[in-house]
Amino acid sequence: MKVLKLSAQGLPQSWISLEQAVLHYAADEVRWEVGAQVALFRGGHNAETGLQSQISVSSIIGTKGVPNINPFDLKPGLTNTKLFARDRNVCAYCGLVHYEEELTREHIIPFAQNGKDHWMNVVTACRACNHRKSNRTPEQARMPLLFAPYIPSLWEDFILRNRRILADQMEFLMAHLPKTSRLYT
Ligand SMILES: [Zn+2]
Repeated sequence: MKVLKLSAQGLPQSWISLEQAVLHYAADEVRWEVGAQVALFRGGHNAETGLQSQISVSSIIGTKGVPNINPFDLKPGLTNTKLFARDRNVCAYCGLVHYEEELTREHIIPFAQNGKDHWMNVVTACRACNHRKSNRTPEQARMPLLFAPYIPSLWEDFILRNRRILADQMEFLMAHLPKTSRLYT
């Protein structure tokens, strides 16, 4: 389980571990929190009061400090896992849902025809369809795309890169998605 770390302005920064989150709390860097309490850490006892210190960690925290991600010049890295998640494990040619082991990164304009390895030139395809299309464009292969590729937004990228997102974190991120996102369906 990860904590969603945002800048004080509310822009996503990273997924961090509970331990990393506690360090932010201990350093008094947490400016605000949303979502449910996901962990409670107990520390030492105060010598004078005898009270035990404790840190309650929320699923979403806004931290002070200079943001390390500028959302306007960020291009989400392309990985197969994120690509398959973007396309919801659906093959762009036969339209069937497949297990991840059966899926491939398919270049719409193939490498052999100078196609690029970029979000806009890749779709998820099953092995059979990828093999059948081979080094041809969809037009040449007469295999029309069933859906179009797109570059995930910063917010989508945060959804695509974590497979175990808590309900309140998902709700928070989904609220920022463009209406065109496939993650809505
Ligand atoms: Zn297929």
